[in-house]
Amino acid sequence: MTKLTTQSSCDDENERGTLSVQHALQTMLDSLVEKTGSQTLPITDAVDRVLAQPIIATINVPSHCNAAVDGYALMHTDLPPIGQLAELTIVGRIVAGHPYTGGLKKGECIQIMTGAQMPDHADTVIMQEQVEICSTTIRIDARHSAGQNVRQAGEDIQLGQTVLASGIKLTPPQIGLIASLGIAEVSVKLPLVAAIFSTGDEVLNIADSPKNGCIYDSNRYSLLAALKKCGCQVLDMGIIPDDAQKLRAAFQLAAKNADVIFTSGGVSVGAADYTKQVLADLGSINFWKVAMKPGRPLAFGQIGDAVFFGLPGNPVAVMVTFYQFALPCLAKILGLKQPLVNPIIKVRCSSSIRKLPGRTEFQRGVLSQSHTGEWSICTTGQQGSGILRSMSEANAFIILEHERGAVKQGEWVNVQAFAGLF
Ligand code: AMP
Ligand code: MG
Repeated sequence: MTKLTTQSSCDDENERGTLSVQHALQTMLDSLVEKTGSQTLPITDAVDRVLAQPIIATINVPSHCNAAVDGYALMHTDLPPIGQLAELTIVGRIVAGHPYTGGLKKGECIQIMTGAQMPDHADTVIMQEQVEICSTTIRIDARHSAGQNVRQAGEDIQLGQTVLASGIKLTPPQIGLIASLGIAEVSVKLPLVAAIFSTGDEVLNIADSPKNGCIYDSNRYSLLAALKKCGCQVLDMGIIPDDAQKLRAAFQLAAKNADVIFTSGGVSVGAADYTKQVLADLGSINFWKVAMKPGRPLAFGQIGDAVFFGLPGNPVAVMVTFYQFALPCLAKILGLKQPLVNPIIKVRCSSSIRKLPGRTEFQRGVLSQSHTGEWSICTTGQQGSGILRSMSEANAFIILEHERGAVKQGEWVNVQAFAGLF
């Protein structure tokens, strides 16, 4: 990790940040390297894991030519010319899993079931519904074509072909695809170990009784849930009070045991925010004012071998910065070749939104479809960075670009759905 320029921070949300969202993210990504290390897992445990080695086909799929429908297998040379009928003798019956040992001669056909191996010399299957059966023979007309209703060997996958590249996050159909090759185990990247802790004398554990002037810790739980969702092993280090020595010990312990460290709070300039000072002593950390709302103060860097994210304290800012910065970074560390974040789409905004140019805003919204099928989005109302309800009621971010001013009702806005992420 390279040493980055240190900036002073400020907790005034109204003041503009000095680093654009894109610049901050790119700087983070540029400083990260992929984590090495893999493990072998049975495919039954491999969904959502990142493939460490490509999957190469060891067989053809399907391995043999087989019938795509229930019907009669025959040679295409026995198909009648236009306007005529052909009568063929039924010489047997083949069911899936029991290949036919005899051959097929001119003028003959064999009843065949879906998935059953095609007999020697047969290359065409006529659907059961399209034949006229007369005890030991069938009659067919001229509507058929050579080779129809047959699945060719290797039609899905060919022996030696790279079926799945490394660096993908395995999905249910991909697990099935691997099974179709007769492969029982796969090599996947080791999961990232993420240490999390909250900071602040005012922050209470959920098991504590309510206390005057204190708040319950929500950040650690939203972060824990988000990290588990993206496959991290989470090391929950609890709440660390605003005490320089305790913070130092916690950071050192986290750096020894984790690939990534997440804290929330303590990265602004409040009198009790010792986090900054301790971090400045311990690692190569940058304190940024990012031109965004919510989420302006942000610390990022390295402590020992661990990547450090010092997220803001406000609960919505934690989620926004996790989603917009940490998720792409985790994807890079994991060696994922595809983004973990959802694509941005444009829809009309049914609310008017106040905004000044000069920072990117991540408002929370509800994306919905009208009875005529059009999608639109409205905000979830009050958007303060401490109002977690604005996030829990939302199903998408409304992303208002850096230079954009106020949004009038009916204007197009950029939207990023939460679906599949949280
Ligand atoms: P700070 O940056 O530490 O001054 O925190 C900013 C705001 O976020 C304050 O109102 C804190 O009380 C609040 N906050 C900090 N940590 C947490 C937490 N773990 N859960 C909920 N709110 C928090
Ligand atoms: Mg604090």
